[in-house]
Amino acid sequence: MKKREAFSNKTDIENIPGISTVRKKSFASLGITDIGALIDHFPRAYQNRGNIYTIADAPLDTPVSLILTVGTDPKSVKIRGNLSLTKFKAFDNSASCEIIFYNRTYADKSYPRGSTHRFYGKLTRTRGGFSLSSPESEPYYEGAKLLPILPVYPLATGLTQKILRTSVRYALDGLYSEYTDGVSEIREADKDPIPAHIRKKYKLCTKAFALENIHFPESEESLRIASDRLAFEELFLLSVKLSYTKKAQKEKNAPVMADTELGEFLKSLPYELTGAQKKVCEAIQTDMSKPTPMNRLISGDVGSGKTVCAAAGAYIALKNGCQAAMMAPTEILARQHFADLSAMFERLGYTCALLIGATKASEKKRIFDGLKSGEIDFVIGTHALIGDKVEFADAGLVITDEQHRFGVRQRAALSEKTKGVHVLVMSATPIPRTLALILYGDLDVSQIDEMPPGRKKVDTFVVGEPYRERLNAFIRKQVDAGGRVYIVCPTVEEAKPDEDEADLNFEDIFGLFEKEEKSELKSTLEYARKLREEIFPDIGVGYIHGKMKSGEKEAAMSAFASGETPILVSTTVIEVGVNVPEATLMVVENAERFGLSQLHQLRGRVGRGKNKSYCVLVSDAKVGSASQKRLDVMKNKTNGYEIAEEDLKQRGPGDFISTSAEMRQHGKLKLKLAQYTSAALMMNASAAASEVITLDPELEKAENAGLRHALGELDLARSGTLN
Ligand code: ADP
Ligand code: MG
Repeated sequence: MKKREAFSNKTDIENIPGISTVRKKSFASLGITDIGALIDHFPRAYQNRGNIYTIADAPLDTPVSLILTVGTDPKSVKIRGNLSLTKFKAFDNSASCEIIFYNRTYADKSYPRGSTHRFYGKLTRTRGGFSLSSPESEPYYEGAKLLPILPVYPLATGLTQKILRTSVRYALDGLYSEYTDGVSEIREADKDPIPAHIRKKYKLCTKAFALENIHFPESEESLRIASDRLAFEELFLLSVKLSYTKKAQKEKNAPVMADTELGEFLKSLPYELTGAQKKVCEAIQTDMSKPTPMNRLISGDVGSGKTVCAAAGAYIALKNGCQAAMMAPTEILARQHFADLSAMFERLGYTCALLIGATKASEKKRIFDGLKSGEIDFVIGTHALIGDKVEFADAGLVITDEQHRFGVRQRAALSEKTKGVHVLVMSATPIPRTLALILYGDLDVSQIDEMPPGRKKVDTFVVGEPYRERLNAFIRKQVDAGGRVYIVCPTVEEAKPDEDEADLNFEDIFGLFEKEEKSELKSTLEYARKLREEIFPDIGVGYIHGKMKSGEKEAAMSAFASGETPILVSTTVIEVGVNVPEATLMVVENAERFGLSQLHQLRGRVGRGKNKSYCVLVSDAKVGSASQKRLDVMKNKTNGYEIAEEDLKQRGPGDFISTSAEMRQHGKLKLKLAQYTSAALMMNASAAASEVITLDPELEKAENAGLRHALGELDLARSGTLN
């Protein structure tokens, strides 16, 4: 066979046979334009077709593989209009079953009597015996090369599993194999981002093996080895990236704050700082007295009092003759901060301004001038602060609130307006310290793990379906008393039934979660309609989900806040920062589907006002199951950090990795498989990154060529800005 030209990651996918202009567009809609992106398009699940069952032994109603011989001639009948049915019998040495296809009259030709096939589908029990409806199949004969495990890819319109499978196969062969007589032979990739000594120490396979086996695994074991290796790589690259970002930060300058005394500021507060707040303020004082920029993340539960710590930083900047800026993700939050902080700072003799989209043009001009001349000391606003016309005379500190709601560019843009500045970001997602050190490796992290005194506990209940009526009565009671009720559902719409079947997921491969019976999932839209039409026809029921436009979301939120729709059915999008003090009840449907930290965030939306608040977790999890135990943690614990630690113990680091990846958007580096790994693997990846950097700080050695190359390709090398 003719030797094919070798591919590189940059090769256009049009070099793959069968990729037409139209298909190219379909691939592009998945973000795939070159070979590199194609092989990075990992399967979402797998079909384990290598596990052959007999009809008699196969589990029912779950996808299985069967090798069957066709026993009767396929017969097609028209049932109605455009629906036809093709049926035939097939057997193995244990039993026989009926095979049914819809609208596939050509099946007559594909399954001649006496032919044998490997079928993959769900076996069901019928009156007369067994039936297999619309299975996938491959001809089975002496010497047939059938893959044991087939990948199931995320698709886009115009693409099929078959197109993806053959395209990826062709791409892998072009990248990694020499063609000899048409038999592909994997050779070691030239450039493996993980140096050989690290692979050896942590028992990781090569990149070539990993890519081959993530797509076309030889066995479940090799699939696990491949996915472990790729997850390790993601976290390893992330750790290396973050340590270079941190190093680059240390090489920059920021104004030295000679006077970090907080006495006057603290005296102006109507309360004492909590111990945790004091520690954060001390860290800020130390950071800001240095000539290198502070890059500190303040994390702490909603209501833990992060704002006042950031304000202490602003006070230090102003006191030392510099300006401060605070950026919030919404106008509501910006106004709230301005109302709270401007009074205090004006009393201390500083000039404050509020800059948001709605600010009048003349006022905007006044603020731009004031910031440029230095007349305005402290500006609070939305992303209007990163507008072109904003210039600072002498900025000392920039603060970003609810940092996850800004894109990387937006956050960086604010500090880039200055010559060198101290930076504080605030986040309301408690995360175990060990993970924070890795996932926020470029930042110094302060945690506020203690609530100001006097917070009321939100009473939490775990209930099952038999409580439905009582729960509905309780919802009504809260609304009648002037309260608001959140009802959170796990999905937006009902799942589509025609998804490609698969019996092997990354969760199973990594062995993370115990398999449990899946209960029916409540969907936001369906459930909102049901509540509105059947259960609470006399009460306003609104809904909100992530696919709505931001204007629609805001309208839904304000109708809820005003009491026009006192019941809000929602996915988890309801924003962390939004404050509806009248909300007294949080109901979470299919609660076993959520991580503990997520449940904790949801619960934090209530209990913000004067009235007693409740959280009801609805779940059919069985008594004694892992889900049930997890939900019980919510009943007993209120501290976000303790809950996060428990979450890590029970479910691994996945949820934290995926939220942090969403929050931080690490350029082209995607954390796809990392979220399925164990905490141990994550620690190893981080340790490996430190080892490599310690041995070769500039990554000049030949063994690190692949790593250097990967960092370059991902644009993550030495971006010096906080993100
Ligand atoms: P978050 O961390 O969610 O941003 P905030 O900074 O908005 O929380 O604080 C929540 C509320 O708690 C505010 O009304 C604030 O004035 C109040 N607060 C903050 N610290 C203390 C404290 N040490 N003692 C009493 N109340 C406090
Ligand atoms: Mg806040």
